Amino acid sequence: MRLIIMGPPGAGKGTQAKFIADHFKIPAISTGDIFRANVSEGTPLGVEAKRYMDAGEYVPDEVTNRMVRNRIDEPDAANGFLLDGYPRTVAQVEELDGMIEFTGHHLDAVVCLTVDQEEIVSRLLQRAQVEGRADDTEDVIRRRQEVYLKETEPLIETYKKRGIVHEIDGMGEVDEVTARIFDALDVVPES
Ligand code: AMP
Repeated sequence: MRLIIMGPPGAGKGTQAKFIADHFKIPAISTGDIFRANVSEGTPLGVEAKRYMDAGEYVPDEVTNRMVRNRIDEPDAANGFLLDGYPRTVAQVEELDGMIEFTGHHLDAVVCLTVDQEEIVSRLLQRAQVEGRADDTEDVIRRRQEVYLKETEPLIETYKKRGIVHEIDGMGEVDEVTARIFDALDVVPES
């Protein structure tokens, strides 16, 4: 199973990604999490990524693509993966197509969470207080939304043309959203 979860920053992708990945017994691969781990370890990748992340901008495609390629080459991703936060640009879509095609597999589905913009900003401001992320100030949050709308939202159309997008209402309780996603993916609930 090869899946992508998409949606604006703060839509709840990370939370839902874990449930989906657990169900399908595949790793949830979050590029944001990998970047953050590198930042806190002070690796060269982290040093490079940090200046973009702190400004709410995207890390260059070349850097991001190389990182994802290495990650999905790891043995735990051989039977599939769920990508959270990747692809985010047209160039990343093309790169991912190449990576998947190379392994002789295909992309099964794109789960797209739709949420209310104002709700998102308030969720992110709340998260900023709890987690203290450097990229969760109000200005940076607004910038991240802008970059998402310009660079990433158009990609949904690309995947829609392939007929693999499941648009899911991301508003409401976490377990309600999970149920909607499982329903769309034809997951039969355990009794
Ligand atoms: P996230 O946790 O997914 O919101 O990502 C946090 C930050 O990491 C983003 O604002 C970007 O600076 C960077 N980032 C994560 N994924 C990507 C990506 N696919 N392409 C470029 N930058 C990314």
